[in-house]
Amino acid sequence: MRLETLQQIKNDAANCTACDLHLGRTNSVVSRGSVNAKIILLGEGPGFYEDQQGLPFVGPSGKLLDNMIRAMGMEPADVYICNAVNCRPPNNRKPYPEEIKTCNDFLKRQITLIDPRVILTLGATAAESLLGFGDSVGKRRGRWHEWNKIPLRVTYHPSALLRDSSKKQEAWLDLQAVLKFLKE
Ligand code: SF4
Repeated sequence: MRLETLQQIKNDAANCTACDLHLGRTNSVVSRGSVNAKIILLGEGPGFYEDQQGLPFVGPSGKLLDNMIRAMGMEPADVYICNAVNCRPPNNRKPYPEEIKTCNDFLKRQITLIDPRVILTLGATAAESLLGFGDSVGKRRGRWHEWNKIPLRVTYHPSALLRDSSKKQEAWLDLQAVLKFLKE
C-alpha cells in the first residue's frame, strides 16, 4: 500500500509540468532508499547523472553521501533520499525560489508518506525548501529545527564538501548529532 503511494508520487512527478524545469529533463527524479526509513536526507535537485538515471545522488556527490551514511552505521538502502526539486535545473544552476515552492507539494507528500523521526537537509536549497528563505547553512547548522513537528538538522551539501574539505569536520558533527538523536 505504501509502495503504491510512492509509485503514485513518482508517476505524478513523471507527468508534472508545473514549472519550467520539466522542459529540460530526461527523467523526473524523486527518491531512492526505503519507505520505512527513520531518516530523510534531503538534497537540492538532480544533476546530470541523476537526470540520466532517474535516481537522486548517483554522481560524485552521491558517492560521498553514501560514505557519509555508512559512517553513521547505516546502509544507503535503509534511509530515504530525495530532493527539493525533482527535475534538473539547466546547467545545474540553483533552483529558483518559485521552482522550489512549486515542487514543494511533492516533497511534503513524500515526508507524509515516510513519516521519518528526523530530517537532515543537505545544502542551502534543501534547508530553504522546509525552513524558508534567508539564513545560510552556516547560520542554520549546529542546532535543532523543526518541520511540522519533525526534528530537522541542517548540514552542507556533499558537493560543497567536495569543493571545500575544511567543512567536513562540521558536517561530521552534524551527522553525529542526528545519530545520537536516533539512538535515544
Ligand atoms: Fe513538476 Fe517539480 Fe519537475 Fe517542476 S521540478 S516540473 S514542480 S516535478
